[in-house]
Amino acid sequence: MGKALIIGAGGVAGVVAHKCCQNPEAFEEICIASRTLEKCEALKKKLEGGPTKIHTARVDADNTETVIDLIKSFGPEIVINVALPYQDLSIMDACLATGVHYVDTANYEPPEKAKFEYKWQWAYRERYEKAHITALLGSGFDPGVTGVFSAYAQKHYFDEIHTIDILDANAGDHGYPFATNFNPEINIREITANGSYYQDGKVIETKPLEIKRVYDFPEIGPKNIYLLHHEEIESLAVNIKGVKRIRFWMTFSDNYLNHLRALQDVGMTSIKPIDFEGKKIVPLRFLKAVLPDPASLGPRTKGKTNIGCIFQGVKDGKPGKYYVYNVCDHQECYKEVGSQAISYTTGVPAMIGAMLIMKGIWKKRGVHNIEEFDPDPFMEALNKYGLPWKEDFSPELPD
Ligand code: NDP
Repeated sequence: MGKALIIGAGGVAGVVAHKCCQNPEAFEEICIASRTLEKCEALKKKLEGGPTKIHTARVDADNTETVIDLIKSFGPEIVINVALPYQDLSIMDACLATGVHYVDTANYEPPEKAKFEYKWQWAYRERYEKAHITALLGSGFDPGVTGVFSAYAQKHYFDEIHTIDILDANAGDHGYPFATNFNPEINIREITANGSYYQDGKVIETKPLEIKRVYDFPEIGPKNIYLLHHEEIESLAVNIKGVKRIRFWMTFSDNYLNHLRALQDVGMTSIKPIDFEGKKIVPLRFLKAVLPDPASLGPRTKGKTNIGCIFQGVKDGKPGKYYVYNVCDHQECYKEVGSQAISYTTGVPAMIGAMLIMKGIWKKRGVHNIEEFDPDPFMEALNKYGLPWKEDFSPELPD
């Protein structure tokens, strides 16, 4: 009992492993696995010495059979997928074949097309139900905590939620001219794609970064925010009944956007393979290789993040507003687990989601987004495991 297989050994996986080790009552044994055994070994070395027993393994999660073999030999109750979105389906297949629960933090995206959607993972619903196992989709911060915040607002403060604005601010400074704070390939694919928001049953597309506002964030101050397409818009539109509009906003500095534009203009963000010295290379993958590794930003990043949701709706016939958010300090995260706040705010919720399923507190079988579960134990765990949240009942809204 109490065994979790963590697939991935990057920034987020490092935090998940740290947090599992801080919680040995739930995680008696973990196995950290990725294609590069040395990365898993290095993590193990940092964490050894506590009550949680740590194993490592080499696995290529694109190959379902090898994941099945690893699950069979280690015998976990749950797989925490913190590799890349490309591996979601092969890992879900392996969990189905072995009867093991599944958790991830990002929805499936085919490598050859920058288009992430839930339809591929939702297609597993019936098979997971029949196998009496749970797939918890999107247990990071956004998606993840943003879905839990939505379920919490729905449960405690509204009869009907009419609008949701998700606001993601990173006021951290790493001192590099340009770097992304999580996997550069996934990050740049997300930002350079068209934006979108949900309005009255329809998804409305915008050009990339077309809609810009300024928002004065608690504990951070005023920042430029840009409307992006983000995966939780799709699931919240289905799961928060009666919602009329959902928007997702993220902060970017002018410096970041100027670099990104230049890279785009010269074709460096393209995901179409090109011929280079007799080989096919994907420019964005090459760019990832020359950019700073997000895991290396930890010691350099100073400042805070603020991620939260503003809801408008009605309760007992009266209109109301509710803002719930978390503020996280990059340096504090680094002191605690050796990572910056972006990996931290993703890794802590991944551990919490896995813990609630392992302990049987969250029992729904099938494939579910996080807002479909009871938010209360998750909200309590956020306070306990390093992501305390704050509330405001009269926030300003981005207009
Ligand atoms: P990193 O690039 O730092 O790490 C990715 C890890 O995945 C690496 O350790 C890599 O190791 C491993 N990996 C890649 N391909 C495979 C494979 N085929 N088989 C096994 N392992 C593989 O990324 P992050 O840690 O920054 O991000 C991890 C995930 O978290 C991503 O899916 C990202 O989208 C998501 N995320 C979610 C957020 C949220 O709030 N919901 C926010 C930020 C990130 P190796 O090369 O050794 O195989």
